[in-house]
Amino acid sequence: MITAPAPTSQPAPGAAPARWQQLWREAVRDPAELLALLGLPELAGRVSASAEAQFPLRVPRGFVARMRPGDPHDPLLRQVLPLDEEDRLVPGFGLDAVGDLAAGAGTGVIHKYEGRVLLVATGSCAVHCRYCFRRHYPYAEQTAAAGGWREALDYLAGAPDVREVLLSGGDPLSLSTAKLAEFTRELAKLPHIRRLRLHTRLPVVLPERVDAELMAWLGGLPWPVLMVVHANHGNEIDPGVAAALARLRGAGVHLLNQAVLLRGVNDGVEALADLSARLFEAGVLPYYLHQLDRVAGTAHFEVPDEQARALVAALAARLPGYLVPRLVREEPGAPSKTPL
Ligand SMILES: *Cc1c(COP(=O)(O)O)cnc(C)c1O
Ligand code: SF4
Repeated sequence: MITAPAPTSQPAPGAAPARWQQLWREAVRDPAELLALLGLPELAGRVSASAEAQFPLRVPRGFVARMRPGDPHDPLLRQVLPLDEEDRLVPGFGLDAVGDLAAGAGTGVIHKYEGRVLLVATGSCAVHCRYCFRRHYPYAEQTAAAGGWREALDYLAGAPDVREVLLSGGDPLSLSTAKLAEFTRELAKLPHIRRLRLHTRLPVVLPERVDAELMAWLGGLPWPVLMVVHANHGNEIDPGVAAALARLRGAGVHLLNQAVLLRGVNDGVEALADLSARLFEAGVLPYYLHQLDRVAGTAHFEVPDEQARALVAALAARLPGYLVPRLVREEPGAPSKTPL
């Protein structure tokens, strides 16, 4: 039940939360409710209680509204519903597929690539994506925002070759705008930092996050800002999402998209071409198409490398080069994402 209009500034302690925070709290968390909303009660028998206990369902209602009722194969539903396929143990699918634990340089700081540092700003996300490698990541001990960002800022102050700070997570936009501003005020004191990047799925899954307060913060930043959003299927981009992206673009934010290649979601030329086209219409260029990180519980999403290459070749034959994402994989110890 949404009654309050969106406030335009950070509420004082005890004041009403911003509208996006309220929508966040009203997310669907019960698989039975999700299936009832979609008219799919027959799928209940395939929901995995153990997968749900490990990484619980969470999906904002606005994202559910973009799913096709009555379709058990809906590409958006498949990204969020904990199914029994996740319980299958598959050799090669472990707990830290991308080497993040080894690369952690401090609290929430991951410095794997030259010139850019990734901060695990927070462990929270508005949506829980079943294929996500972060489902096993020990957030509680390792977030950069904890403790007033101090360890992350100290690390950056002592790393003069770093040009770009990447806020990731979890989802950095799940932090309040005030918390983000607390960080950028301090970051602005480090003259070697030239670019700020956010990796966020929120403009896509909860576009209400792109509110006046966020826009005011973005508009006041001293650096060029890149936002890498995350949509895997064209159906994720509805008019509300397109409007949020247009606001960001209007503020001069560079918009890119990363997607994960997922069996049963976007593993067809048609789906990938449609995604690129709809992103472009919304002012976003495709950036990476990731091969799945091989983490436990996600094997059923994997698309073999051969097929992935063939898909991207077919896409390249159909679309202008700027609408073809780069097919990459993350390999522990590699100096960049690895092109396939
Ligand atoms: C993916 C990633 C980046 C960003 O890589 P780009 O190729 O610059 O997009 C930076 N740091 C870490 C730890 C990453 O995983
Ligand atoms: S980090 Fe991104 S992909 Fe992973 S659960 Fe959160 S929103 Fe989904």
